[in-house]
Amino acid sequence: MRLKKSFIAAAVAIAATAIAVPLQAAEPPNIRVLATGGTIAGAQASATDYGYKSGAYDVNSLLSAVPNLDKLAVITGEQVANIGSQDMNDEVWLKLAKRVNGVLAEPGTDGVLITHGTDTMEETGYFLTLVTSSTKPVVMVGSMRPATAISADGPGNIYNGVAVVTNPGATGKGTLVVLNDEIHYARNVVKTNTTTVQTFVSINRGPAGVVNTGKIQWFEPMDRKVGPATGFSVDALDKLPRVDVIYAHANMSADLIDAAIKNGAQGLVIAGVGDGNMTTPALDALTRAAKEGIVVVRSTRLPSGVVLRNNEVNDDEKGFVASGELNPAKSRVLLQLALTQTKDPIRIQKMFYEY
Ligand code: ASP
Repeated sequence: MRLKKSFIAAAVAIAATAIAVPLQAAEPPNIRVLATGGTIAGAQASATDYGYKSGAYDVNSLLSAVPNLDKLAVITGEQVANIGSQDMNDEVWLKLAKRVNGVLAEPGTDGVLITHGTDTMEETGYFLTLVTSSTKPVVMVGSMRPATAISADGPGNIYNGVAVVTNPGATGKGTLVVLNDEIHYARNVVKTNTTTVQTFVSINRGPAGVVNTGKIQWFEPMDRKVGPATGFSVDALDKLPRVDVIYAHANMSADLIDAAIKNGAQGLVIAGVGDGNMTTPALDALTRAAKEGIVVVRSTRLPSGVVLRNNEVNDDEKGFVASGELNPAKSRVLLQLALTQTKDPIRIQKMFYEY
């Protein structure tokens, strides 16, 4: 069969165009690593030494210890702090949150990975969940063994963390925590063991997913307001309101409650016994405090469960807030941010229901 000349000319033209415009390989994602210290950057005097110092290595040393990271993304690192996370404070939180927002606002950046100590990761992670102004992925990683340890867990956690940040499923979920092959919502996760690598657990809910050598499976969706949906902003903040946590126990007196108020606490979180309970003297002191405009949140010292409103304590009558699922440390974070907007316990209770 003979082809018409015009058809052949057209076919040649198409072929030429195809050659002139080579197939575009998908651009690798651009990820920024913000390092803050922790055991993941920790060093022992020798690999079998028991003691170690957190935050001894910088971000570039951490990244260079992870094989094949460059196959997942183009990664640039920045040191925001280099501390054990037991020293985490409002100043570093605000600096970190502003940096996360600044980096994610860059059109060329696809996500942020934060290296962080595990002691207060659940607090920083929840703080970032509430104040991040972008829906791009934010993932935190840490480790339970220092960088110099036999079988250090940091490099594997960083590899999995980068895999999660570059996964489209991580978008709009709030800050995620990746450790020991599990993915958790920072809002839900708590550290449960002092030293073992299986320490992070989403107690009331189960993990958000799992990740094995970079291969991800998502389980539960995030059902709370996160990121821009919360309406919180750190832009104009250079400090946070003081909120103290007070631990309830048998024979609890009002002394620590009075001391916290005297020292300027604008909010108090009670790590209550059972369903957020406490002794009568403590309850009376908090009732007085609430009348004076201190916002009181009842949480629990128990590892699991929901603190219910108006159960054994009449929160409506006393003007208290019930923490729901949030443990005392996370309740403190939400109350600090809530107090940047309102002192109304009804509005703050709504935040505890929704965030
Ligand atoms: N104390 C350390 C920290 O939180 C523990 C760790 O990172 O695992 O910085």
